[in-house]
Amino acid sequence: MKNLALHWKILIGMVLGVAFGFLMVNFSGGKELVLDWVKPFGTIFINALKLIAVPLILGSLISGVSDLKDISKLSKMGGKTVMIYLVTTVVAVTIGLVLVNSFQPGSSISDKTRTELVSSYSESTQKYKDEAANQKRQGPLNALVEMVPDNIIGASSENKNMLQVIFFAIFFGVGLILLPEDKAKPVKDFFYSFNEVILKMIDLIMLAAPYGVFALLAALIVESPSADLFAALGWYALTVVLGLFMMIMIYTLLVYIFSGMKPKVFLQGISPAQLLAFSTSSSAATLPVTMERVHEHLGVEEEVSSFVLPIGATINMDGTSLYQAVAAVFIAQAFGMDLSLGVQLGIVATATLASIGSAAVPGAGMVMLVIVLAQAGIPEAGLALIFAVDRPLDMCRTVVNVTGDATVSMLVAKSEGRLGKPMVQDWDDNYKK
Ligand code: ASP
Repeated sequence: MKNLALHWKILIGMVLGVAFGFLMVNFSGGKELVLDWVKPFGTIFINALKLIAVPLILGSLISGVSDLKDISKLSKMGGKTVMIYLVTTVVAVTIGLVLVNSFQPGSSISDKTRTELVSSYSESTQKYKDEAANQKRQGPLNALVEMVPDNIIGASSENKNMLQVIFFAIFFGVGLILLPEDKAKPVKDFFYSFNEVILKMIDLIMLAAPYGVFALLAALIVESPSADLFAALGWYALTVVLGLFMMIMIYTLLVYIFSGMKPKVFLQGISPAQLLAFSTSSSAATLPVTMERVHEHLGVEEEVSSFVLPIGATINMDGTSLYQAVAAVFIAQAFGMDLSLGVQLGIVATATLASIGSAAVPGAGMVMLVIVLAQAGIPEAGLALIFAVDRPLDMCRTVVNVTGDATVSMLVAKSEGRLGKPMVQDWDDNYKK
């Protein structure tokens, strides 16, 4: 067990967690036992990861940006990063739309199933609709206004303000670049060491990862709704999963074409982050591990990974945008609506923006889906149709969100000449000959 690679240990933890969950639901009082005595360890594990997010962004982004030594390099990299993020998101939405229009999963939902689902889940979806209504009330430039905090301590006190912390860290890094070297050096050295401490803390947290995911998945199983509903929504879920799988293939191919890194090296390097994304359903909670893996196992220099990944975790959600496109059209199909090409193109735009606006936490994609539905004139009540399978799909789409960020960081690093040899070699030969 000791010499097993981390992703195997995490995978074993996940499998045992699922098995334990299924076992415990068969005993009376088993569910409560898991919720009272096992789930808290999962929560502690996620909290420990989230605890690291703000200090990690501050430490790594400040030292990463200040190492660039030149502001024009920063703006060039920023432009490139945002462009590639946008392109991959549009590709994801398009794949989602093509699949859902080809498979028509909504047509297999009978009127009876639809009425049943809407009546059993409409109450559960109210909270998502309220949250979306709150977001909609704000003006068009609100996202920009929200990016600039008026108090850095306030901004750092909530993980949902990640973009504000990123803004501050980049701003601070730019200040450091502009200072003469002798004045900047003590501050740079401080943040360099600060960052090293945080990375060590991540190593320590990862020791607990197999146990953390065990607890998370056991709790998820005992809390999940009955299997009959999954069957009714099977085609819809399969369409989403197929699209997500295609995205992973596309990423692997992009990495291979542009950097020459072999698929097995890329996938093994990033797999612990993928498994954590799956278990936690949160790209924000996974960010510390994504950053560590991309830097140490995939060879992306820290100047790039510390810049591209935190931004990606907040704005780049290809899995979420693909899911939103499939879900919106699925709901329309289930309600017997025919969406014109114009409306579907509108979905490409709104799902892209909605995924950028989605927070990197569980269920966030569903909140923003409300806005996509409203724009396309699809009944919001349809949210109840997909509610039962949302959590497993959230787990899968978060894997894609995280893999997409890692891919883009490799592409940017390659184009900037900052893709080196991985510090930790999982394989003897990493690149194509
Ligand atoms: N859970 C997703 C993430 O953190 C967001 C979502 O699609 O709900 O990336």
